[in-house]
Amino acid sequence: MSRPRRVVIVGGGISGLATAFALQEQAAAKGLSLECTVLESGSSWGGKIVTHRIGDLVTEAGPDSFLSQKHAGLELCAKLGLTDQLINTNETGKRAFVLHGSRLHELPEGLVSFVPRQLGPFLRSGLLSWTGLARMGLDVLIPRGSSDGDESLASFFRRRFGPQAFERVLEPLMAGIYAGDAEQMSLKATFPRFFELEQRYGSIIRGMTAEKKQTPPMSSSGPKRTMFVSLKNGLGDLVTALQARLEQQGVECRLGCRVDALRVRSHQPGRWMYDLILNEGSAVSAEHLVLATPAYVSADLLRPLTPIAGGLLEMIPYASTATIAMAYPAELVAGAVEGFGFIVPRIAGRDLIAATWTSLKWPHRAPAGQVLIRCYVGGVGREGVLQFDDAKLVATVRAELTALCGIAAEPSYVEVNRWWKAMPQYTLGHLNRLDQLDAALSRYPGLVLTGAGYRGVGIPDCIRDGALAAAKIIQDVAGTHPA
Ligand SMILES: Cc1cc2nc3c(=O)[nH]c(=O)nc-3n(C[C@H](O)[C@H](O)[C@H](O)COP(=O)(O)OP(=O)(O)OC[C@H]3O[C@@H](n4cnc5c(N)ncnc54)[C@H](O)[C@@H]3O)c2cc1C
Repeated sequence: MSRPRRVVIVGGGISGLATAFALQEQAAAKGLSLECTVLESGSSWGGKIVTHRIGDLVTEAGPDSFLSQKHAGLELCAKLGLTDQLINTNETGKRAFVLHGSRLHELPEGLVSFVPRQLGPFLRSGLLSWTGLARMGLDVLIPRGSSDGDESLASFFRRRFGPQAFERVLEPLMAGIYAGDAEQMSLKATFPRFFELEQRYGSIIRGMTAEKKQTPPMSSSGPKRTMFVSLKNGLGDLVTALQARLEQQGVECRLGCRVDALRVRSHQPGRWMYDLILNEGSAVSAEHLVLATPAYVSADLLRPLTPIAGGLLEMIPYASTATIAMAYPAELVAGAVEGFGFIVPRIAGRDLIAATWTSLKWPHRAPAGQVLIRCYVGGVGREGVLQFDDAKLVATVRAELTALCGIAAEPSYVEVNRWWKAMPQYTLGHLNRLDQLDAALSRYPGLVLTGAGYRGVGIPDCIRDGALAAAKIIQDVAGTHPA
Protein backbone atom coordinates (compact mmCIF):
# COMPACT_ATOMS: atom_id res chain seq x y z
CA MET A 1 0.00 0.00 0.00
CA SER A 2 1.51 3.37 -1.00
CA ARG A 3 1.57 6.25 1.48
CA PRO A 4 -1.38 8.71 1.32
CA ARG A 5 -0.81 11.63 -1.08
CA ARG A 6 -1.09 15.11 0.32
CA VAL A 7 -3.28 17.70 -1.39
CA VAL A 8 -3.62 21.27 -0.18
CA ILE A 9 -6.50 23.47 -1.31
CA VAL A 10 -6.16 27.20 -0.75
CA GLY A 11 -9.50 29.02 -0.38
CA GLY A 12 -12.57 27.83 1.50
CA GLY A 13 -15.25 29.35 -0.72
CA ILE A 14 -17.67 27.08 -2.55
CA SER A 15 -14.98 26.30 -5.16
CA GLY A 16 -12.40 25.12 -2.65
CA LEU A 17 -14.91 23.17 -0.55
CA ALA A 18 -16.49 21.55 -3.62
CA THR A 19 -13.01 20.58 -4.84
CA ALA A 20 -12.25 18.91 -1.51
CA PHE A 21 -15.58 17.08 -1.62
CA ALA A 22 -15.04 15.84 -5.17
CA LEU A 23 -11.48 14.79 -4.30
CA GLN A 24 -12.77 12.56 -1.51
CA GLU A 25 -15.41 11.09 -3.76
CA GLN A 26 -13.10 10.46 -6.73
CA ALA A 27 -10.23 9.14 -4.58
CA ALA A 28 -12.60 6.64 -2.92
CA ALA A 29 -13.86 5.51 -6.34
CA LYS A 30 -10.27 4.87 -7.48
CA GLY A 31 -9.09 3.36 -4.21
CA LEU A 32 -6.56 6.16 -3.70
CA SER A 33 -5.59 7.38 -0.28
CA LEU A 34 -5.36 11.17 0.11
CA GLU A 35 -4.55 13.53 2.95
CA CYS A 36 -6.43 16.69 2.16
CA THR A 37 -6.16 20.11 3.81
CA VAL A 38 -8.23 23.23 3.06
CA LEU A 39 -6.68 26.56 4.09
CA GLU A 40 -9.00 29.55 4.41
CA SER A 41 -7.81 33.02 5.35
CA GLY A 42 -11.16 34.20 6.71
CA SER A 43 -12.86 33.37 9.98
CA SER A 44 -15.72 31.45 8.32
CA TRP A 45 -16.26 29.07 5.45
CA GLY A 46 -18.07 29.77 2.19
CA GLY A 47 -16.36 32.89 0.81
CA LYS A 48 -19.06 34.89 -0.96
CA ILE A 49 -21.83 32.69 0.45
CA VAL A 50 -22.88 34.40 3.67
CA THR A 51 -26.31 33.94 5.26
CA HIS A 52 -27.41 36.07 8.22
CA ARG A 53 -30.30 35.14 10.49
CA ILE A 54 -31.78 38.01 12.49
CA GLY A 55 -34.79 36.79 14.41
CA ASP A 56 -37.09 35.37 11.74
CA LEU A 57 -35.37 37.28 8.94
CA VAL A 58 -32.98 35.39 6.65
CA THR A 59 -30.72 37.67 4.63
CA GLU A 60 -28.10 36.70 2.07
CA ALA A 61 -25.12 39.02 1.93
CA GLY A 62 -23.90 37.44 -1.33
CA PRO A 63 -25.65 34.90 -3.57
CA ASP A 64 -29.26 34.12 -2.71
CA SER A 65 -29.99 31.26 -5.13
CA PHE A 66 -28.53 29.20 -7.95
CA LEU A 67 -29.56 28.02 -11.38
CA SER A 68 -31.28 24.63 -11.33
CA GLN A 69 -30.63 23.94 -15.03
CA LYS A 70 -26.91 23.58 -14.31
CA HIS A 71 -27.12 20.35 -12.38
CA ALA A 72 -24.00 20.53 -10.22
CA GLY A 73 -25.73 22.60 -7.52
CA LEU A 74 -28.74 20.31 -7.16
CA GLU A 75 -26.53 17.23 -7.27
CA LEU A 76 -24.29 18.49 -4.49
CA CYS A 77 -27.35 19.31 -2.37
CA ALA A 78 -28.61 15.76 -2.92
CA LYS A 79 -25.26 14.24 -1.92
CA LEU A 80 -25.29 16.32 1.25
CA GLY A 81 -28.86 15.30 2.15
CA LEU A 82 -30.22 18.81 1.55
CA THR A 83 -32.81 18.01 -1.14
CA ASP A 84 -35.73 18.43 1.25
CA GLN A 85 -34.41 21.91 2.12
CA LEU A 86 -34.48 23.12 -1.49
CA ILE A 87 -37.09 25.75 -2.26
CA ASN A 88 -38.47 27.08 -5.52
CA THR A 89 -39.25 30.69 -6.27
CA ASN A 90 -42.82 31.66 -5.45
CA GLU A 91 -44.40 30.98 -8.85
CA THR A 92 -47.61 32.85 -8.09
CA GLY A 93 -45.76 36.15 -8.04
CA LYS A 94 -43.49 35.40 -10.97
CA ARG A 95 -43.20 38.84 -12.58
CA ALA A 96 -40.20 41.08 -12.95
CA PHE A 97 -39.81 44.68 -14.04
CA VAL A 98 -37.28 46.85 -15.80
CA LEU A 99 -36.85 50.59 -15.54
CA HIS A 100 -37.58 52.42 -18.76
CA GLY A 101 -37.97 56.18 -18.82
CA SER A 102 -39.23 57.17 -15.41
CA ARG A 103 -41.26 54.07 -14.58
CA LEU A 104 -41.01 50.32 -14.16
CA HIS A 105 -42.31 48.18 -17.03
CA GLU A 106 -43.09 44.52 -16.71
CA LEU A 107 -40.50 42.36 -18.44
CA PRO A 108 -42.07 40.50 -21.33
CA GLU A 109 -43.16 36.99 -20.51
CA GLY A 110 -41.38 34.17 -22.21
CA LEU A 111 -37.90 35.68 -21.84
CA VAL A 112 -36.63 32.12 -21.61
CA SER A 113 -32.90 32.19 -21.01
CA PHE A 114 -32.98 35.95 -21.62
CA VAL A 115 -34.05 35.93 -25.26
CA PRO A 116 -37.64 35.91 -26.51
CA ARG A 117 -39.02 33.26 -28.77
CA GLN A 118 -42.04 35.45 -29.49
CA LEU A 119 -42.18 39.17 -30.11
CA GLY A 120 -45.84 39.61 -29.03
CA PRO A 121 -45.12 39.99 -25.30
CA PHE A 122 -42.48 42.62 -26.14
CA LEU A 123 -45.10 44.50 -28.09
CA ARG A 124 -47.50 44.52 -25.15
CA SER A 125 -44.81 45.54 -22.62
CA GLY A 126 -44.42 48.99 -24.17
CA LEU A 127 -40.66 48.71 -23.75
CA LEU A 128 -39.78 48.95 -27.44
CA SER A 129 -40.97 51.24 -30.20
CA TRP A 130 -42.36 49.73 -33.41
CA THR A 131 -39.03 50.26 -35.11
CA GLY A 132 -37.19 48.72 -32.17
CA LEU A 133 -39.47 45.71 -32.33
CA ALA A 134 -39.10 45.34 -36.08
CA ARG A 135 -35.33 45.56 -35.71
CA MET A 136 -35.45 42.80 -33.13
CA GLY A 137 -37.36 40.56 -35.53
CA LEU A 138 -34.61 41.03 -38.12
CA ASP A 139 -32.62 38.48 -36.12
CA VAL A 140 -34.20 35.81 -38.30
CA LEU A 141 -32.73 37.40 -41.45
CA ILE A 142 -29.37 38.82 -40.40
CA PRO A 143 -26.51 36.55 -41.54
CA ARG A 144 -24.43 34.82 -38.92
CA GLY A 145 -21.25 36.52 -37.74
CA SER A 146 -17.76 35.13 -37.99
CA SER A 147 -16.87 32.28 -35.69
CA ASP A 148 -13.30 33.53 -35.33
CA GLY A 149 -12.11 35.86 -32.63
CA ASP A 150 -14.14 37.14 -29.75
CA GLU A 151 -17.06 39.55 -29.77
CA SER A 152 -18.43 41.64 -26.92
CA LEU A 153 -21.87 40.93 -25.53
CA ALA A 154 -22.93 44.45 -26.55
CA SER A 155 -21.72 44.09 -30.13
CA PHE A 156 -23.34 40.66 -30.55
CA PHE A 157 -26.78 41.61 -29.22
CA ARG A 158 -26.86 45.00 -30.94
CA ARG A 159 -25.99 43.23 -34.17
CA ARG A 160 -28.67 40.56 -33.78
CA PHE A 161 -31.50 42.47 -32.07
CA GLY A 162 -30.73 46.16 -32.51
CA PRO A 163 -29.76 48.83 -29.96
CA GLN A 164 -33.17 49.29 -28.33
CA ALA A 165 -33.75 45.68 -27.29
CA PHE A 166 -30.14 45.45 -26.16
CA GLU A 167 -29.99 48.65 -24.11
CA ARG A 168 -33.46 48.47 -22.60
CA VAL A 169 -33.80 44.76 -21.79
CA LEU A 170 -30.90 42.46 -22.64
CA GLU A 171 -28.08 44.56 -21.18
CA PRO A 172 -29.53 44.82 -17.65
CA LEU A 173 -30.58 41.15 -17.69
CA MET A 174 -27.30 39.74 -18.91
CA ALA A 175 -24.53 42.13 -17.90
CA GLY A 176 -26.27 42.54 -14.52
CA ILE A 177 -25.46 38.95 -13.58
CA TYR A 178 -21.76 39.79 -13.75
CA ALA A 179 -22.14 43.38 -12.50
CA GLY A 180 -20.27 43.93 -15.74
CA ASP A 181 -20.04 46.22 -18.73
CA ALA A 182 -21.44 44.47 -21.81
CA GLU A 183 -19.11 46.50 -24.06
CA GLN A 184 -16.14 44.71 -22.50
CA MET A 185 -17.62 41.28 -21.73
CA SER A 186 -16.70 38.34 -23.93
CA LEU A 187 -19.76 36.62 -25.43
CA LYS A 188 -17.96 33.29 -25.78
CA ALA A 189 -16.83 33.32 -22.14
CA THR A 190 -20.08 34.55 -20.57
CA PHE A 191 -22.96 33.32 -22.74
CA PRO A 192 -21.45 30.75 -25.13
CA ARG A 193 -24.89 29.31 -25.86
CA PHE A 194 -25.83 32.37 -27.92
CA PHE A 195 -22.65 32.14 -29.96
CA GLU A 196 -23.43 28.46 -30.62
CA LEU A 197 -27.06 29.16 -31.53
CA GLU A 198 -26.02 31.79 -34.05
CA GLN A 199 -23.39 29.52 -35.58
CA ARG A 200 -25.76 26.55 -35.79
CA TYR A 201 -29.05 28.17 -36.82
CA GLY A 202 -27.99 31.56 -38.18
CA SER A 203 -30.54 33.21 -35.86
CA ILE A 204 -31.10 33.21 -32.11
CA ILE A 205 -34.89 33.26 -32.33
CA ARG A 206 -34.93 30.41 -34.88
CA GLY A 207 -32.35 28.46 -32.89
CA MET A 208 -34.24 28.76 -29.62
CA THR A 209 -37.51 27.80 -31.27
CA ALA A 210 -35.90 24.75 -32.92
CA GLU A 211 -34.23 23.65 -29.70
CA LYS A 212 -37.44 24.07 -27.75
CA LYS A 213 -39.14 21.66 -30.16
CA GLN A 214 -36.32 19.14 -29.75
CA THR A 215 -36.26 19.32 -25.95
CA PRO A 216 -37.91 16.21 -24.52
CA PRO A 217 -40.76 16.99 -22.11
CA MET A 218 -39.59 17.29 -18.51
CA SER A 219 -39.59 13.99 -16.70
CA SER A 220 -42.47 13.84 -14.27
CA SER A 221 -40.33 12.01 -11.71
CA GLY A 222 -38.68 14.11 -9.04
CA PRO A 223 -39.79 17.48 -7.76
CA LYS A 224 -40.30 20.25 -10.32
CA ARG A 225 -37.67 22.97 -9.96
CA THR A 226 -37.96 26.61 -10.90
CA MET A 227 -35.18 28.28 -12.88
CA PHE A 228 -33.53 29.47 -9.64
CA VAL A 229 -33.63 27.52 -6.41
CA SER A 230 -32.39 28.19 -2.90
CA LEU A 231 -32.32 26.57 0.52
CA LYS A 232 -35.11 27.18 2.98
CA ASN A 233 -32.87 28.70 5.65
CA GLY A 234 -30.36 30.26 3.29
CA LEU A 235 -27.42 29.12 1.20
CA GLY A 236 -25.22 29.17 4.28
CA ASP A 237 -26.68 25.72 5.00
CA LEU A 238 -24.95 24.38 1.89
CA VAL A 239 -21.61 25.59 3.22
CA THR A 240 -22.28 24.24 6.74
CA ALA A 241 -23.29 20.81 5.42
CA LEU A 242 -20.38 20.65 3.01
CA GLN A 243 -17.77 21.63 5.54
CA ALA A 244 -19.23 19.25 8.17
CA ARG A 245 -19.08 16.40 5.63
CA LEU A 246 -15.44 17.20 4.84
CA GLU A 247 -14.56 17.11 8.55
CA GLN A 248 -16.33 13.74 8.86
CA GLN A 249 -14.29 12.44 5.95
CA GLY A 250 -11.09 13.45 7.71
CA VAL A 251 -10.29 16.52 5.61
CA GLU A 252 -8.28 18.99 7.64
CA CYS A 253 -10.14 22.32 7.47
CA ARG A 254 -8.19 25.30 8.81
CA LEU A 255 -9.67 28.78 9.21
CA GLY A 256 -7.60 31.93 9.71
CA CYS A 257 -4.77 30.51 7.55
CA ARG A 258 -3.82 33.03 4.91
CA VAL A 259 -1.31 31.81 2.37
CA ASP A 260 1.12 34.69 1.86
CA ALA A 261 3.65 33.09 -0.47
CA LEU A 262 4.26 30.02 -2.56
CA ARG A 263 7.67 28.48 -3.15
CA VAL A 264 8.66 25.42 -5.11
CA ARG A 265 11.46 22.98 -4.63
CA SER A 266 12.57 20.29 -6.96
CA HIS A 267 11.25 17.01 -5.68
CA GLN A 268 11.66 14.32 -8.32
CA PRO A 269 12.64 14.75 -11.95
CA GLY A 270 9.95 17.00 -13.45
CA ARG A 271 8.06 17.24 -10.15
CA TRP A 272 7.84 19.98 -7.55
CA MET A 273 7.08 20.22 -3.88
CA TYR A 274 4.89 23.26 -3.21
CA ASP A 275 5.68 25.11 0.04
CA LEU A 276 2.95 27.45 1.24
CA ILE A 277 4.05 30.17 3.65
CA LEU A 278 1.23 31.06 6.03
CA ASN A 279 0.49 34.41 7.69
CA GLU A 280 1.77 33.25 11.07
CA GLY A 281 5.09 32.24 9.51
CA SER A 282 4.69 28.46 9.42
CA ALA A 283 4.72 26.49 6.16
CA VAL A 284 2.61 23.70 4.70
CA SER A 285 4.01 21.50 1.92
CA ALA A 286 2.30 19.34 -0.64
CA GLU A 287 3.02 17.74 -3.96
CA HIS A 288 -0.52 18.51 -5.16
CA LEU A 289 -1.94 22.01 -4.84
CA VAL A 290 -5.26 23.59 -5.77
CA LEU A 291 -5.53 27.37 -5.73
CA ALA A 292 -9.25 28.12 -5.27
CA THR A 293 -8.60 31.78 -4.53
CA PRO A 294 -9.71 34.84 -6.56
CA ALA A 295 -7.54 35.23 -9.67
CA TYR A 296 -5.74 38.32 -8.30
CA VAL A 297 -4.72 36.37 -5.15
CA SER A 298 -3.51 33.44 -7.28
CA ALA A 299 -1.62 36.00 -9.42
CA ASP A 300 0.32 37.25 -6.38
CA LEU A 301 1.12 33.69 -5.29
CA LEU A 302 2.22 32.50 -8.74
CA ARG A 303 4.08 35.59 -10.01
CA PRO A 304 7.44 34.65 -8.42
CA LEU A 305 7.22 31.16 -10.02
CA THR A 306 5.88 32.16 -13.38
CA PRO A 307 5.53 35.85 -14.19
CA ILE A 308 3.62 34.89 -17.34
CA ALA A 309 0.88 33.12 -15.37
CA GLY A 310 0.91 35.94 -12.81
CA GLY A 311 0.45 38.49 -15.59
CA LEU A 312 -2.38 36.56 -17.23
CA LEU A 313 -4.21 36.15 -13.92
CA GLU A 314 -3.82 39.85 -13.18
CA MET A 315 -5.65 40.57 -16.43
CA ILE A 316 -8.89 39.15 -14.99
CA PRO A 317 -10.50 42.26 -13.51
CA TYR A 318 -12.96 42.10 -10.60
CA ALA A 319 -15.92 44.40 -9.99
CA SER A 320 -16.94 45.62 -6.56
CA THR A 321 -20.57 45.67 -5.49
CA ALA A 322 -22.73 46.03 -2.40
CA THR A 323 -26.03 44.54 -1.35
CA ILE A 324 -28.35 46.41 0.99
CA ALA A 325 -31.07 44.39 2.72
CA MET A 326 -33.99 46.28 4.23
CA ALA A 327 -37.09 44.99 6.04
CA TYR A 328 -40.37 46.92 6.27
CA PRO A 329 -43.69 46.37 7.98
CA ALA A 330 -45.77 45.00 5.09
CA GLU A 331 -48.49 47.67 5.35
CA LEU A 332 -45.95 50.44 4.70
CA VAL A 333 -44.93 49.06 1.29
CA ALA A 334 -48.26 47.52 0.24
CA GLY A 335 -48.90 48.19 -3.45
CA ALA A 336 -45.32 49.33 -4.07
CA VAL A 337 -43.83 45.85 -4.32
CA GLU A 338 -45.09 43.21 -6.72
CA GLY A 339 -43.42 40.36 -8.56
CA PHE A 340 -39.80 39.53 -7.80
CA GLY A 341 -38.27 42.97 -8.23
CA PHE A 342 -36.71 45.06 -10.98
CA ILE A 343 -33.51 45.73 -12.89
CA VAL A 344 -32.07 49.04 -14.05
CA PRO A 345 -30.36 49.40 -17.44
CA ARG A 346 -26.94 51.04 -17.55
CA ILE A 347 -28.29 53.76 -19.87
CA ALA A 348 -30.59 54.95 -17.05
CA GLY A 349 -27.42 56.23 -15.31
CA ARG A 350 -28.74 55.48 -11.81
CA ASP A 351 -26.93 54.26 -8.71
CA LEU A 352 -29.28 51.34 -8.11
CA ILE A 353 -28.66 48.41 -10.47
CA ALA A 354 -31.43 46.08 -9.25
CA ALA A 355 -33.80 45.36 -6.38
CA THR A 356 -35.28 42.03 -5.35
CA TRP A 357 -38.44 41.73 -3.30
CA THR A 358 -36.80 38.89 -1.42
CA SER A 359 -39.70 37.77 0.74
CA LEU A 360 -42.09 37.76 -2.23
CA LYS A 361 -39.65 35.75 -4.32
CA TRP A 362 -38.60 33.27 -1.62
CA PRO A 363 -40.88 31.86 1.02
CA HIS A 364 -39.45 31.70 4.57
CA ARG A 365 -37.18 34.72 4.30
CA ALA A 366 -39.27 37.09 6.43
CA PRO A 367 -41.96 36.55 9.05
CA ALA A 368 -45.61 37.27 8.19
CA GLY A 369 -46.29 40.98 8.22
CA GLN A 370 -42.80 41.96 7.06
CA VAL A 371 -41.37 42.52 3.61
CA LEU A 372 -37.67 41.95 2.96
CA ILE A 373 -36.06 43.85 0.07
CA ARG A 374 -32.54 43.55 -1.30
CA CYS A 375 -30.92 46.30 -3.38
CA TYR A 376 -27.76 46.06 -5.47
CA VAL A 377 -25.30 48.84 -6.26
CA GLY A 378 -21.85 49.01 -7.84
CA GLY A 379 -20.45 47.01 -10.74
CA VAL A 380 -18.07 48.00 -13.52
CA GLY A 381 -18.08 51.76 -14.07
CA ARG A 382 -20.64 52.29 -11.30
CA GLU A 383 -18.43 51.71 -8.27
CA GLY A 384 -18.23 55.35 -7.09
CA VAL A 385 -21.21 54.85 -4.80
CA LEU A 386 -19.26 52.27 -2.78
CA GLN A 387 -17.08 55.08 -1.41
CA PHE A 388 -20.09 56.41 0.53
CA ASP A 389 -20.29 55.53 4.20
CA ASP A 390 -23.13 53.19 5.20
CA ALA A 391 -25.54 56.00 6.15
CA LYS A 392 -25.09 57.78 2.81
CA LEU A 393 -25.26 54.52 0.87
CA VAL A 394 -28.54 53.57 2.54
CA ALA A 395 -29.93 57.09 2.01
CA THR A 396 -28.98 56.87 -1.69
CA VAL A 397 -30.68 53.52 -2.13
CA ARG A 398 -33.78 54.66 -0.25
CA ALA A 399 -34.01 57.76 -2.44
CA GLU A 400 -33.85 55.49 -5.50
CA LEU A 401 -36.66 53.30 -4.13
CA THR A 402 -38.77 56.38 -3.47
CA ALA A 403 -38.20 57.72 -6.98
CA LEU A 404 -38.72 54.42 -8.79
CA CYS A 405 -41.46 52.70 -6.81
CA GLY A 406 -42.73 55.14 -4.23
CA ILE A 407 -41.31 53.45 -1.12
CA ALA A 408 -40.66 56.28 1.30
CA ALA A 409 -41.19 54.45 4.61
CA GLU A 410 -38.46 53.98 7.18
CA PRO A 411 -37.16 50.37 7.13
CA SER A 412 -37.30 48.48 10.41
CA TYR A 413 -34.04 46.66 9.63
CA VAL A 414 -31.08 47.61 7.40
CA GLU A 415 -27.95 45.65 6.53
CA VAL A 416 -25.13 46.77 4.22
CA ASN A 417 -22.75 44.19 2.74
CA ARG A 418 -19.84 45.47 0.68
CA TRP A 419 -18.08 43.16 -1.73
CA TRP A 420 -14.73 44.54 -2.84
CA LYS A 421 -13.24 42.98 -5.96
CA ALA A 422 -15.87 40.25 -5.85
CA MET A 423 -17.20 39.66 -9.36
CA PRO A 424 -14.69 38.39 -11.94
CA GLN A 425 -15.08 39.94 -15.36
CA TYR A 426 -14.63 37.72 -18.38
CA THR A 427 -13.52 40.44 -20.73
CA LEU A 428 -12.70 40.10 -24.44
CA GLY A 429 -9.99 37.48 -24.95
CA HIS A 430 -10.72 35.72 -21.63
CA LEU A 431 -10.80 32.20 -23.10
CA ASN A 432 -7.60 32.83 -25.00
CA ARG A 433 -5.92 33.94 -21.82
CA LEU A 434 -7.10 30.75 -20.06
CA ASP A 435 -5.41 28.69 -22.80
CA GLN A 436 -2.20 30.66 -22.35
CA LEU A 437 -2.48 30.17 -18.59
CA ASP A 438 -2.76 26.40 -19.04
CA ALA A 439 0.36 26.51 -21.20
CA ALA A 440 2.26 28.61 -18.65
CA LEU A 441 1.28 26.25 -15.81
CA SER A 442 2.08 23.07 -17.72
CA ARG A 443 5.57 23.19 -16.20
CA TYR A 444 4.00 22.77 -12.77
CA PRO A 445 2.36 19.37 -12.63
CA GLY A 446 0.19 18.85 -9.58
CA LEU A 447 -0.85 22.52 -9.52
CA VAL A 448 -4.44 23.34 -10.51
CA LEU A 449 -6.48 26.56 -10.47
CA THR A 450 -10.21 26.66 -9.88
CA GLY A 451 -12.78 29.25 -8.84
CA ALA A 452 -15.21 31.79 -10.16
CA GLY A 453 -12.47 33.67 -12.00
CA TYR A 454 -12.20 31.21 -14.86
CA ARG A 455 -15.06 29.14 -16.30
CA GLY A 456 -18.26 30.41 -14.73
CA VAL A 457 -19.21 32.65 -11.81
CA GLY A 458 -22.41 30.92 -10.66
CA ILE A 459 -22.44 28.50 -7.75
CA PRO A 460 -23.11 25.42 -9.98
CA ASP A 461 -20.24 26.54 -12.27
CA CYS A 462 -17.90 26.74 -9.29
CA ILE A 463 -18.99 23.29 -8.04
CA ARG A 464 -18.53 21.76 -11.49
CA ASP A 465 -15.14 23.43 -11.97
CA GLY A 466 -14.11 22.17 -8.52
CA ALA A 467 -14.96 18.62 -9.62
CA LEU A 468 -12.85 19.10 -12.76
CA ALA A 469 -9.96 20.41 -10.67
CA ALA A 470 -10.31 17.35 -8.42
CA ALA A 471 -10.27 15.06 -11.48
CA LYS A 472 -6.98 16.63 -12.64
CA ILE A 473 -5.44 16.08 -9.22
CA ILE A 474 -6.67 12.48 -9.09
CA GLN A 475 -5.25 11.85 -12.56
CA ASP A 476 -1.96 13.34 -11.43
CA VAL A 477 -1.91 11.28 -8.22
CA ALA A 478 -2.83 8.07 -10.04
CA GLY A 479 -0.35 8.75 -12.84
CA THR A 480 2.62 9.58 -10.66
CA HIS A 481 1.97 7.20 -7.81
CA PRO A 482 0.19 4.11 -9.02
CA ALA A 483 -1.31 2.32 -6.02
C1 LIG B 1 -23.19 40.04 -4.21
C2 LIG B 1 -23.06 38.75 -4.97
C3 LIG B 1 -24.21 38.08 -5.37
C4 LIG B 1 -24.12 36.88 -6.07
N1 LIG B 1 -25.25 36.22 -6.42
C5 LIG B 1 -25.18 34.98 -6.95
C6 LIG B 1 -26.35 34.19 -7.09
O1 LIG B 1 -27.45 34.60 -6.71
N2 LIG B 1 -26.21 32.94 -7.63
C7 LIG B 1 -25.00 32.44 -8.00
O2 LIG B 1 -24.95 31.29 -8.49
N3 LIG B 1 -23.86 33.16 -7.85
C8 LIG B 1 -23.92 34.40 -7.32
N4 LIG B 1 -22.78 35.13 -7.10
C9 LIG B 1 -21.49 34.56 -7.54
C10 LIG B 1 -20.98 33.47 -6.58
O3 LIG B 1 -21.42 33.72 -5.28
C11 LIG B 1 -19.46 33.46 -6.57
O4 LIG B 1 -18.95 33.47 -7.89
C12 LIG B 1 -18.93 32.22 -5.86
O5 LIG B 1 -19.51 32.09 -4.58
C13 LIG B 1 -17.41 32.32 -5.78
O6 LIG B 1 -16.92 31.20 -5.11
P1 LIG B 1 -15.34 30.92 -5.04
O7 LIG B 1 -15.13 29.84 -4.07
O8 LIG B 1 -14.80 30.75 -6.42
O9 LIG B 1 -14.70 32.29 -4.51
P2 LIG B 1 -14.84 32.94 -3.09
O10 LIG B 1 -16.19 32.75 -2.53
O11 LIG B 1 -14.32 34.32 -3.26
O12 LIG B 1 -13.83 32.09 -2.19
C14 LIG B 1 -12.45 32.29 -2.22
C15 LIG B 1 -11.95 32.09 -0.80
O13 LIG B 1 -10.53 32.21 -0.79
C16 LIG B 1 -10.16 32.83 0.43
N5 LIG B 1 -8.82 33.40 0.27
C17 LIG B 1 -8.47 34.50 -0.45
N6 LIG B 1 -7.13 34.70 -0.36
C18 LIG B 1 -6.64 33.69 0.40
C19 LIG B 1 -5.32 33.35 0.83
N7 LIG B 1 -4.24 34.09 0.50
N8 LIG B 1 -5.17 32.25 1.63
C20 LIG B 1 -6.25 31.49 1.98
N9 LIG B 1 -7.51 31.78 1.58
C21 LIG B 1 -7.70 32.86 0.81
C22 LIG B 1 -11.24 33.87 0.62
O14 LIG B 1 -11.30 34.31 1.97
C23 LIG B 1 -12.48 33.13 0.17
O15 LIG B 1 -13.13 32.47 1.23
C24 LIG B 1 -22.83 36.34 -6.39
C25 LIG B 1 -21.68 37.01 -5.99
C26 LIG B 1 -21.78 38.19 -5.27
C27 LIG B 1 -20.52 38.88 -4.81
